[in-house]
Amino acid sequence: MDCIFCKIANGEIPSDTVFEDDNFKVILDLSPASKGHMLILPKTHARDITELGEDIAGKAIVLAAKLGKASMAALGATGFNTLANTGESAGQTVFHCHIHVIPRYDDASSIVSWVPGQSDKEVQKETAKKIAECIR
Ligand code: 5GP
Ligand code: ZN
Repeated sequence: MDCIFCKIANGEIPSDTVFEDDNFKVILDLSPASKGHMLILPKTHARDITELGEDIAGKAIVLAAKLGKASMAALGATGFNTLANTGESAGQTVFHCHIHVIPRYDDASSIVSWVPGQSDKEVQKETAKKIAECIR
């Protein structure tokens, strides 16, 4: 399979590596949203977080917290965003699962945002029920 993140995760293509263990390689994003923007790459190919499996997903979120804290200690970040784009409509461009850890600074130079909408009580109730029925 011709997957760029498989090649990076397994060392075939060099990258600016922040951390590595048996399960993950953590690299700096080539087009960072902010200084220290990292990508957690699982070493085993999965298309997105829906294919990740509980063990690796759990370890990935723990690692994301550690990396975010490290960016605060090392770079002076005052917060961080952790996110995984899943599917084209959500902005996923590389289809090897990765988790973004984006340090945030008080100058608000990086953005991860949406426009808050309005909620309707009945619609919210119905929506919560619909989703709940489909959790597998
Ligand atoms: P997505 O849009 O799929 O959530 O995120 C893909 C991310 O991977 C983007 O932020 C993009 O800048 C980064 N990226 C794409 N190709 C490469 C690469 O070859 N090396 C590195 N370090 N980052 C990459
Ligand atoms: Zn891959």
